[in-house]
Amino acid sequence: MSFDLDHYRRRAERFCEELSREYYLHLAGHKPELEIEPIYDGYADLFARADVERLRELAGGAAGGDEKRRLRYLLQFAFDGLLGLDTRSESAELAGLEASLEVDPGDGAVPYRAVPIEQANEPDSDRRAALEEARNAVLVERLNPLHRAMLERSHELCRAFGWPSYTAAYAELRGIDLETLALQTGSFLEATEDAYAAIVDPQLRRTGMSPLGGLRRSDLPRFFRAVDLDPVFPADLLVASFANTLAGLGIDLGRQTNVHLDADSRRTKSSRAFCSTPRVPDEVYLVIAPSGGRDDYGALFHEGGHVEHYANTDPGLAFEFRHLGDNSVTESFAFLVEHLIEDRDWLRHKLGVEDPEPAAAHTRAFKLVLVRRYAAKLAYELELHGDTAVLAEMPGRYAELLTRALRVPWPRASWLADVDGGFYAACYLRAWTLETRWRAALRERFGASWFASSEAGEWLRSLWSHGQRLDAAELLAETLGGELDFTVMATELTTPAD
Ligand SMILES: [Zn+2]
Repeated sequence: MSFDLDHYRRRAERFCEELSREYYLHLAGHKPELEIEPIYDGYADLFARADVERLRELAGGAAGGDEKRRLRYLLQFAFDGLLGLDTRSESAELAGLEASLEVDPGDGAVPYRAVPIEQANEPDSDRRAALEEARNAVLVERLNPLHRAMLERSHELCRAFGWPSYTAAYAELRGIDLETLALQTGSFLEATEDAYAAIVDPQLRRTGMSPLGGLRRSDLPRFFRAVDLDPVFPADLLVASFANTLAGLGIDLGRQTNVHLDADSRRTKSSRAFCSTPRVPDEVYLVIAPSGGRDDYGALFHEGGHVEHYANTDPGLAFEFRHLGDNSVTESFAFLVEHLIEDRDWLRHKLGVEDPEPAAAHTRAFKLVLVRRYAAKLAYELELHGDTAVLAEMPGRYAELLTRALRVPWPRASWLADVDGGFYAACYLRAWTLETRWRAALRERFGASWFASSEAGEWLRSLWSHGQRLDAAELLAETLGGELDFTVMATELTTPAD
């Protein structure tokens, strides 16, 4: 039977819609079960090996331009789906275990998934470490065998399609030169090496933590939580400050009929903000459970950036450009909006903070830790997914690379659980550099308070209208010019702010 590309595209779009709506309904607390298996079963034909191979031929043979882009995005969608379908029983088992297992730090059981929250709220460093140890033991014994089976199966499937490795597969599928990116992020690690402790240690001290050298990984959730900043980020201003910020940009959240803001409280609702996009741009959800604090603001503004990007995407674009493509682009807009919560002018004007310095300095230190962590993760994932990987050596390499980048003794246990599928880490890293460029352009064109300029809003809406037709490098080249580059971000993160 011949391959009907238009039919495939229509079904792929419906699949995305149903899957996304199911996640929304479950995570927003409208239904307790997450029933994605029937959806996958109903669309299993999309991920049949013959169809994926046909898409790969078509993508390889296309001349260029938009048709080639659409085929490559569709091929990545299909191959991700094929891997997902092939490892769905392990995924379901993992999710079930993660939701049901408990860990005991010595004073009673804590749900497995609640460990980071428990650590963030635990003032006693030794109990945080005990939680970590108990969690790692469960990870090694119960979850890692499943993670490992999924990893080996994914590697095998890449080879079955003729790629030398998982790395080679995803470099082609994403259209990202991963080795070059790793060289750039390696230079970023070097460029921020000397300033790292000088930026992070004062914030550790301010939050009552041990400095680098004495800090443990189990302390990081507590550090990121920044309890002392709670008064700066009150729960009752969370939604209002977001709506107010959009209003400053000339965007009336209340009148965006395609954006559904869900702030109702439901018993099984996710405690973390998320965005869901069954139909781009016509049906976009921003779901929050406002509890306040720096983390909560960061999550809402990040997801709010995704929501505005999708809600302003041109409805006339092809499905692939509205729903698929290079997620470095949407992440760059999420980071741009998220960055506001460390912007001194924004803190003063929108939250009425008299002294924005502690909040701004803390968030900058947090970001430096995060970017260095992702740089180390990319280096590690290239080894893990390369064609010469020796899996027995990988837990050690993971611990070594993360320990070196963060100067925090890093446990080996999460060598598999800490890996983002399909090199998503590369998207975050590219997004951070792209966000730096968007922000510099906004300041230059519309001033330091660009977030209060409707012209800035108009410029952003024109960027958002492209959806993800172009990848991050192409979009930058076509709008501001130049290339994705980590040196600007390294300088920004290590130079005292104005
Ligand atoms: Zn995001």
